[in-house]
Amino acid sequence: PEVISVQELANRMSERSVDVIKCLMKLGIMATANQTIDADTAELVVEELGHTAKRVAESDVEIGLGMDDQDAEETLLPRAPVVAVMGHVDHGKTSLLDALRKTDVVSGEAGGITQHIGAYQVKLASGNVITFLDTPGHEAFTAMRMRGASVTDIVILVVAADDSVMPQTIEAIKHAKAAGVPIIIAINKCDKPAANPDKVRQELLQHEVFVEDMGGDVLSVEVSALNGTGLDKLQDAILLQSEMLELRANPERAAQGTVVESKIETGRGMVATVLVKRGTLRIGDNFVAGSAYGKVRALLDHRGNQVEEAGPSVPVEILGIQGAPVAGDDFAVTENEGKAKEIAEYRLRLEKEKKVTATARGTIEQMFSAI
Ligand code: GDP
Ligand code: MG
Repeated sequence: PEVISVQELANRMSERSVDVIKCLMKLGIMATANQTIDADTAELVVEELGHTAKRVAESDVEIGLGMDDQDAEETLLPRAPVVAVMGHVDHGKTSLLDALRKTDVVSGEAGGITQHIGAYQVKLASGNVITFLDTPGHEAFTAMRMRGASVTDIVILVVAADDSVMPQTIEAIKHAKAAGVPIIIAINKCDKPAANPDKVRQELLQHEVFVEDMGGDVLSVEVSALNGTGLDKLQDAILLQSEMLELRANPERAAQGTVVESKIETGRGMVATVLVKRGTLRIGDNFVAGSAYGKVRALLDHRGNQVEEAGPSVPVEILGIQGAPVAGDDFAVTENEGKAKEIAEYRLRLEKEKKVTATARGTIEQMFSAI
């Protein structure tokens, strides 16, 4: 993708696009501002106009982020599991997320005005913490996965005991399996007279989900989101599963994570919720988030409280973003502002080029279909 639009090249040099076009004409190239030129030509133009060209290959720009490097074994500490709730419509995903949220011992103390930031944490009486993604449904899960994001450690599959396995239950099983994420079955609505948990366990067998009672190793818990029964057992199951997964991260490094939600708010501008995967995010950190970048001006937790920092598995809302990150974008703290800006602009350029190519292709297709 070593191409740049004439306009973008002009912007980067703070020159007028007409001057770039004139320069190109001198080189025997006719181009409009929206057209793209190759890297060699761009370099000629840059030098012709008295600037110094600096080519940045993808690897050069992105390498500093160290997204792929492994943390040394001795730096790893246990982290909270990140849990997503999936299941068929009306089986009780939202109700269950609400009920679980209320079990948080900290919110209880604070009087609990909860903010919707796309994820929340529950602190149990035992001191253990669980992070829940509170955008239920597999759309969010799939959308994030399509962007290459893997934030979920465990999927809670909600199945209503009076309705059993339904199409979206099967969908969710497929998604979780494809992502290699372990499932815990929450058999919900067990308060209902028509509840038949055995039927649920039986039917799950047909979809190769073998719960414990059926000789398998998938944890399953009978719950009622309505009257709160079984929630403690569900939380125990989550903790047990997470122990088996040995979830760990290095909290002592530049933070990296995933954007789980973003929105524009009056008075606050662009705000995004980031789920930190490793490292610790702090106020003042320079960062890149997809093709957006910025410097952390404030951090807010899911209770709307200002916090100083956020470590692994902690969802946190950040203020101070230039641009528009989207759910599933990766997030990384950079050593300085220049680096963040360089990476963001580079990615933005790639996105634009992709769009231009897509539009061009669209036009050609339209031309052919018109014939
Ligand atoms: P979602 O579509 O999966 O998010 O399902 P909701 O949480 O919106 O629940 C759908 C309906 O089922 C609502 O009317 C809930 O009040 C009801 N519901 C959810 N959980 C329970 C439960 O444990 N018992 C009973 N009786 N009703 C429930
Ligand atoms: Mg719902």
